[in-house]
Amino acid sequence: MDKLKGVVIKTTGSWHTAKLKSGQLMDCTVRGKFRIKGIRNTNPIAVGDVVVVEPNPNEPTGVITDLEPRTNYIIRKATKLSKQAHIIASNIDQVFLLAAMAEPETPLMFIDRVLVTAESYRIPAVILFNKMDLLDEDQQELAEAYQYLYESIGYPVMLISAVSGLNLDQVRGKMKNTTSVIVGQSGVGKSTLLNQLQPGLGLKIGDISEAHQQGKHTTTFAEMHELDFGANIIDTPGIRSFGLVEVDRAEELSHFFPEIFEVGQNCRFHNCTHTHEPGCAVKEAVENNEIPFTRYENYLTIMKGDEGDKYRKDIYAQ
Ligand code: GDP
Ligand code: ZN
Repeated sequence: MDKLKGVVIKTTGSWHTAKLKSGQLMDCTVRGKFRIKGIRNTNPIAVGDVVVVEPNPNEPTGVITDLEPRTNYIIRKATKLSKQAHIIASNIDQVFLLAAMAEPETPLMFIDRVLVTAESYRIPAVILFNKMDLLDEDQQELAEAYQYLYESIGYPVMLISAVSGLNLDQVRGKMKNTTSVIVGQSGVGKSTLLNQLQPGLGLKIGDISEAHQQGKHTTTFAEMHELDFGANIIDTPGIRSFGLVEVDRAEELSHFFPEIFEVGQNCRFHNCTHTHEPGCAVKEAVENNEIPFTRYENYLTIMKGDEGDKYRKDIYAQ
């Protein structure tokens, strides 16, 4: 039987739906282990995977026999120290970080944590400030200041309104021909945005509350949606763990703050953590306003660790 290539667009337990090159959907089981070096993954195949499928004779189903190397993947661990990890999704072109200046105001700490996570996964991030229609003049100016701040680091920023439609063409343009995930606190407008981009999609992005799943051994279902204008969106409640940064060594964290990493090349010590060391170019740059103070502050908070975790619980508590 001829082997076919496809992309996994849905996983539900041991069945995976592959979209074949022809456009046909085929439900598949998996043959083989597909281990990842360094982690014990509890699921062999994830949404976004490019796979080779062997159709079952005289049946509409197939078997996944091979997996192409992933360009990146998002994982979720049962606990922080757990060696076991669930692969949530793979081959992601970009993360759209949906934020707002009001109702609810997104803390810069939330933004920076998501950016750090995206950097650690090597996924480019785009920041969207939603609900611009709600802002008074001062808040609008602040939004523009944040736009300047993050664009100066290298992240594209769009000021949008999912309700009024402001700048949604920019968003569509950026999403076109890519596979994206959308991350943002509850209430920031993820479902509204997607339904605006594609009326009738009826998405419930990340709607399954974490609290519901606690204590139960539930499978994280993920799904890739194809929007009519040629964009793929991966929808999964597992995306809530986005923002949980893990670094092995203190000096590694700065790798995920591009502007700190760049300036840090000039520190006296190559393993400088930019906290207390003499001859630290980063601290000097912060004093000279060449590195945004909020970024440095959040770098220090994430470095301390515990506080960041507490913070994460707070923002997701519902
Ligand atoms: P989600 O939890 O991130 O999916 O957020 P929702 O899409 O459910 O939106 C939460 C609330 O914010 C809803 O009442 C939306 O109508 C509202 N909302 C979303 N986007 C906008 C916007 O651009 N402007 C205004 N004024 N309200 C918005
Ligand atoms: Zn330094």
